Amino acid sequence: MSEYPKSPLMGQMMSQPLLVSSIIEHADRHFGANEIVSRRVEGDIHRYTYRDCHRRARQLANALEKCGVRMGDRIATLAWNGYRHLEAYYAVSGSGAVLHTINPRLTPEHIAYIANHAEDQFLMFDLTFLPLVEAFAAHCTTIKGYILMCDKDRMPASTKIPNLQCYEDLIEANSADYVWPLFDENSAATLCYTSGTTGNPKGALYSHRSTILHAYASAMPDSLCVSGRDTVLPVVPMFHVNAWGLPYSVLLSGAKMVFPGPSLDGKSLYELFESEKVTFSAGVPTVWLGLLTYMAQNNLKFSSFKRTVIGGSACPPAMMKTLRHQYGIEVVHAWGMTEMSPLGTACTLQTKHDAMSEDEKQAVLETQGHAIFGVDMKIVDDAGVELPWDGKTYGNLLVKGPWVISSYFKNEGGDVLENGWFPTGDVAIISPDGYMRITDRSKDVIKSGGEWIGTIDLENIAMGHPAVQMAACIGVVHPKWDERPLLIVVKKPGQDVSKEELLKFYEGKIAKWWTPDDVEFVDALPIGATGKILKNKIREQFKEYKLPTA
Ligand code: ADP
Repeated sequence: MSEYPKSPLMGQMMSQPLLVSSIIEHADRHFGANEIVSRRVEGDIHRYTYRDCHRRARQLANALEKCGVRMGDRIATLAWNGYRHLEAYYAVSGSGAVLHTINPRLTPEHIAYIANHAEDQFLMFDLTFLPLVEAFAAHCTTIKGYILMCDKDRMPASTKIPNLQCYEDLIEANSADYVWPLFDENSAATLCYTSGTTGNPKGALYSHRSTILHAYASAMPDSLCVSGRDTVLPVVPMFHVNAWGLPYSVLLSGAKMVFPGPSLDGKSLYELFESEKVTFSAGVPTVWLGLLTYMAQNNLKFSSFKRTVIGGSACPPAMMKTLRHQYGIEVVHAWGMTEMSPLGTACTLQTKHDAMSEDEKQAVLETQGHAIFGVDMKIVDDAGVELPWDGKTYGNLLVKGPWVISSYFKNEGGDVLENGWFPTGDVAIISPDGYMRITDRSKDVIKSGGEWIGTIDLENIAMGHPAVQMAACIGVVHPKWDERPLLIVVKKPGQDVSKEELLKFYEGKIAKWWTPDDVEFVDALPIGATGKILKNKIREQFKEYKLPTA
């Protein structure tokens, strides 16, 4: 794999491949009695240890081998965050096959397309997804067998799904006598498709090496800071971008793991946070919105929760302030993408910030933060010329690093790199001391009279209004200015605000010409498969919209 010259004097350290199986082996050997707690699809709470997980992963690896699974074969999962999914993570990748996590929130057509494109051999799925699998199974051309991840007594009496086996039967029928094979660390470990909001989804194929390096880097104190003293509840799904690497970083750190299963509503999450004494969590802003709304309505507090990572889309400052000041929770704003495994940056304060006022600290924390060591970033103009890190110039954000893709699976989309850098499709500003701030996705930027207006700032301000639950800003055609901002707002239940009040709320917070031209109130915003607001859907909905200023 290495395209670099060899020194005449090479280092004399062991050449041990970085493999995913080494994490579960380490976890068992050093923290074998540590707990993994899961809220199951069956409804109850399941508890076992790292050692149990390792044993069952080896049983599953034996079962897969008997099913004829070989190195490099793709084995798909459609599953929530839970212990069986974790066993699949280690059994599949550890044995040299490739775990292909599929997002169950995609349409049956999308799922069939992805499974065929990946040439999946088997599909393991949670009971929740039985109707979904029944809807697309007939369209999957490569899947030889289906494995239902449920207790034996929950297996359906009859089904349209061909070659359906019970996961627990497979585990029971196979011994734990299995030695994880050693192979080249650049072998593929997992496969995850982008959400495909534009065009067909494309696959990011992570290697064992990239997964391990990402796990090390993401566990560091100024990244996700995962430690053996933590109890971690990943709300981020294991079906998309490997739950930000937590199934690896938690086990290598020896933290207690708590899986929420399918119950991601505010009440269920709150109860699990409290009963299991969760200290650390990670999720997209829409998840925290549900949890915080439930807590405010019921006047609740957390007793153990200390820190959360928020990313996937910009964390609204109002949400960050509520978490920090009302609930005493440290918020780490992180940025990344499927193509980056996903972590690129994380925002934490340094000693030099100690002397700052609370408002100044908050302003730093609202940025997406520093590049995590291993990832390099730069901003360029449309001609590819590098732009300064001056805290005000914005440009296209490019990244590189050992856990950033070099091409998509099956070379879909051709050569995607620009002189060795991956173009993220995001627009960003970088401060002289390396704090990066995403101002927009390049396709969402509003181009008004030759100038760019970043929609994230406009949305963040609106979200700061006490009556606003959610806000999205899009560009609408304008005869004079090409595009002008239109703000779409969902009000908080039982709260009211007028268009005029909202527009006045922007005064003094932003350049006057950035202020939206109009506000529309809606009952809900379209949310995509990864919990993000779907701007393309909103643009479609408002494509005939006539601004009052037009
Ligand atoms: P998909 O929605 O296709 O799954 P990803 O989950 O890979 O895509 O999302 C990556 C994109 O999400 C980034 O390119 C960026 O636009 C956005 N994003 C992720 N984290 C943040 C953040 N903290 N602030 C703003 N945008 C973010």
